[in-house]
Amino acid sequence: MGLKTFKGGVHPYDGKDLSKSKPVTDYLPKGDLVFPLSQHIGAPATPIVAVGDSVLRGQKIAEASGFVSAAIFSSVSGTVKAIEPRRTTTGDMVNSIIIENDGAFTEVTYDSCEDVSSLSKEQIIERIKEAGVVGMGGAGFPTHVKLSPKEPEKIEYIIANGAECEPYLTSDYRNMMDEAELLIGGMNIVLSMFPNAKGIIGIEDNKPDCIERLTKMCASEPRIDVQPLMTKYPQGGERQLIHAVTGRDINSKMLPADAGCIVDNVETLISIYRGVKLGRPVITHNFTVTGDAVVEPQNFRICVGTNFAELLEAAGGLKASGAKKMIAGGPMMGFALFDLNVPITKTTSALICMTEDEASLYEPSACINCGRCVEACPEQLIPSRLADFAEHGQKDEFEKWYGLECIECGSCTYGCPARRHLAQSIKTMKKLVLADKRKK
Ligand code: SF4
Ligand code: SF4
Repeated sequence: MGLKTFKGGVHPYDGKDLSKSKPVTDYLPKGDLVFPLSQHIGAPATPIVAVGDSVLRGQKIAEASGFVSAAIFSSVSGTVKAIEPRRTTTGDMVNSIIIENDGAFTEVTYDSCEDVSSLSKEQIIERIKEAGVVGMGGAGFPTHVKLSPKEPEKIEYIIANGAECEPYLTSDYRNMMDEAELLIGGMNIVLSMFPNAKGIIGIEDNKPDCIERLTKMCASEPRIDVQPLMTKYPQGGERQLIHAVTGRDINSKMLPADAGCIVDNVETLISIYRGVKLGRPVITHNFTVTGDAVVEPQNFRICVGTNFAELLEAAGGLKASGAKKMIAGGPMMGFALFDLNVPITKTTSALICMTEDEASLYEPSACINCGRCVEACPEQLIPSRLADFAEHGQKDEFEKWYGLECIECGSCTYGCPARRHLAQSIKTMKKLVLADKRKK
């Protein structure tokens, strides 16, 4: 297959060489673990343990509290120390279960399934729900909901998102290299629920070894193909990936299922396999600690709930020069961190520590009407105009010019020679407009 892509986008320095060849190391935490009850889209989970209870690794500690919600499991054995609000990577205080780690990692016995092909669709969905699987590429949408579209017979594509287009991140690269069997196993489980669908694994062409490995392995998989994608940010955006793979377009009022697609990140598919086949819930995932300020950039398999500061120490800590910027997630869409005493959730994939904060080096200046932001926008918006509307509080104009279609990718800000904070202004305005809509 040839290279496919979407219109617009940018080519930031990818920084992946810092960590991509580092093998994944299991990191077993030493300190307390913090499990926010909201680490997915939808209703927060409801605690089913109380302070003082003993828990095992793999034990459910919070139940999904509705259809669009997800269960949470302890990744260590120990004692419930508190249930109280704790700060998360977004800066919000979120009610969380805190577990004092006994260091023994005593684990429950999982209810594995000998013959997945004997399971009904409903049983597969239930096992995915019971494993607490959510979109692990960052969105955190409960996977059992995504896999329950209204018209399953109309699903034609199950797309595995292996683009990993955010600079510096290598956790999915390692997943595709190290856990390819589980990825294909997860894809086959999903395909078994959608008889009219084919599976496509979309991978940017800056990961030729992943493309080669998975293409070879899929040669004996009649329903799965590997699709190389042009390396361009945000190739892994859901709408951009669907367009690249199928030529179909969706907007903010549509679901991928409306275009006959379901998109799952590669680690989500691996988690589906673990949940359905092995009965193992989401308690670990791949995580990259990287950046030019880190002594030993590397990839870890972390326990959900691990403290960012503790993991940074495991990577040798910061160089003597220190870090001017620390980010949870990728540099384009991640969250700047001011305090590393926050937990890693199911959906956080990286900690990046940089010796420079480029954004703070330049003051924004007036727009020079160069049009670069328009060229960069993958949604074909006019970011300069939307940012003007946002800065002047013109909500109606903002909506009329399709501001709600912004996917908050940051491509416009990246290329702006005037260093305008375009994406930030547009994102803030989007929140205000959506909040107004909810009130109506
Ligand atoms: S306007 Fe939104 S979608 Fe377009 S480039 Fe900027 S952040 Fe991305
Ligand atoms: S990239 Fe910046 S300077 Fe150029 S048109 Fe857009 S907002 Fe104006």
